[in-house]
Amino acid sequence: MSRVVVAGAGPVGLTAALALARKGVPVTVLESGGDLAAESRASTFHPPTLEMLDDLGIGAELHDRGLLAPTFAYRDRAAGLIARLDLAVLAGDTRFPYRLQCEQSKLTPILRAHLLRHDGCEIRYDWHLAAVTQTGDTVTARSADGRTAEGSWLIGADGAHSATRRATGTGFDGITYPERFLVASADEDLTAWLPDLAAVNYVFDPVEWCVLLRTPDHWRVLLPTPAETPDEVEYARLDERLRGVFDPGRPWRIAHASMYRVHQRVAAAFRVGRVLLAGDAAHVNNPLGGLGMNSGIHDAVAYADALATGDPAVVDAAAAHRRRIALEYVQSVSHQNYERLRATDPAARATYLDSLRATAADPVKARASLLRSSMIASLRPVTA
Ligand SMILES: Cc1cc2nc3c(=O)[nH]c(=O)nc-3n(C[C@H](O)[C@H](O)[C@H](O)COP(=O)(O)OP(=O)(O)OC[C@H]3O[C@@H](n4cnc5c(N)ncnc54)[C@H](O)[C@@H]3O)c2cc1C
Repeated sequence: MSRVVVAGAGPVGLTAALALARKGVPVTVLESGGDLAAESRASTFHPPTLEMLDDLGIGAELHDRGLLAPTFAYRDRAAGLIARLDLAVLAGDTRFPYRLQCEQSKLTPILRAHLLRHDGCEIRYDWHLAAVTQTGDTVTARSADGRTAEGSWLIGADGAHSATRRATGTGFDGITYPERFLVASADEDLTAWLPDLAAVNYVFDPVEWCVLLRTPDHWRVLLPTPAETPDEVEYARLDERLRGVFDPGRPWRIAHASMYRVHQRVAAAFRVGRVLLAGDAAHVNNPLGGLGMNSGIHDAVAYADALATGDPAVVDAAAAHRRRIALEYVQSVSHQNYERLRATDPAARATYLDSLRATAADPVKARASLLRSSMIASLRPVTA
């Protein structure tokens, strides 16, 4: 198969590139940055994503850099630990019955190193895709300063503000959440303060819900933050809010913090002629449940498999299938996670917390729930 162009050297673009390279397809990756992004963003790898990355030959290296998270927990601000779900019940469903906690900025250099071992594969930095044209069986990406890159297909994996998506005139409908999300990375050992923490903890509260999760380098706290308050005011009261999670009697040691708007949006089509949209370029969702990067990696692998058949009908079906999963699974699960964490009706909350306790206590119920939250059920038929 002739060259494929990939826009964006994030986790999704590089996964697509490596998956194609391993099938003997030459790939040109166009990256607007001068190097790979170093930002700490997604940090949870679900079991099927680990299977895919292992199949691409990078499983061991990723595991070397990450932390195994065999359980995750639901907590209530007032009541403490509610339930802890153990992914060990998925041992018959996956060879990786756990989450791996590892920042996406540790994945991308591994993908790059493996990609560049393949003849005919390259990454062009400082290459900002600005326009796309399609003629016959060729698609051409153009940079603002007149450079071009040609391929038989273009995969737009250039993130939420995708120029590829805009160049193809594809809509991106959905919602923007009313609050911003504030993520603080702390140089603290939270388990010294709260010994019953799992590596990932979803903490229910009608006002101050939060997520506490461990990465190899830090503990991260994700808090909802009003959209209208100036950033400096929110950063100034961050320590006070963190001391609401746990008060060590001194300020928390914060390595860095950032605030961002969160959207739920899906592109109107994932295939436009010989252009495919993948990852954040195709769909964005809130980070509750860690589905964004994972589902983008699933897009990348599905597209590489489909492109390798050389049959446009198979590619078309793959794009339509990945869009259905984005709409029916990723958007729905992530939004449900958001609604439940912040539920205000005490009776509904109590019922839901009881159902979580019952799920954790029953391996059959736990497996059914974990097949969904681990994304396995979005990818293959599962039996009860
Ligand atoms: C603060 C934060 C926390 C998050 N936490 C989680 C989480 O816990 N779990 C989870 O699953 N997801 C999380 N996400 C979402 C996750 O980071 C994304 O889903 C993931 O990065 C998508 O990967 P991607 O490769 O599609 O896009 P990106 O990672 O955005 O990569 C896009 C790449 O394209 C490049 N690019 C952009 N425009 C152009 C252009 N015109 N031409 C060429 N190159 C271009 C960019 O420089 C970048 O390298 C989080 C996001 C944020 C912002």
